[in-house]
Amino acid sequence: MRAIVKQRVEDKLYQNRYMVDHGRPHITVTPHLFPSRNLVALTQVCPAKCYQFNDRGQVTITSDGCLECGTCRVLCGTTGEITWKYPRGGFGVLFKFG
Ligand code: SF4
Repeated sequence: MRAIVKQRVEDKLYQNRYMVDHGRPHITVTPHLFPSRNLVALTQVCPAKCYQFNDRGQVTITSDGCLECGTCRVLCGTTGEITWKYPRGGFGVLFKFG
């Protein structure tokens, strides 16, 4: 009988690989003095924790670990607070299944 091994989400995400398109992030945050509530929410809802506060309380992104789930695009993609596009071909997340 095979034992069922439960994995944490973080362990599963660790299996993914990323091809970073250096200098060409596929998501950017529009410069702002104070973050809107939607921008603040991105620091909580992004499953890869790509959004962080900087030391001035503004929301920034490091898109290198982005899963391309589109959650932030739904929340802020039409408000002008972020720009979002898929990475160029050959770049971005490489999911490992199984
Ligand atoms: S697409 Fe998903 S994983 Fe990527 S930055 Fe947005 S919320 Fe995070």
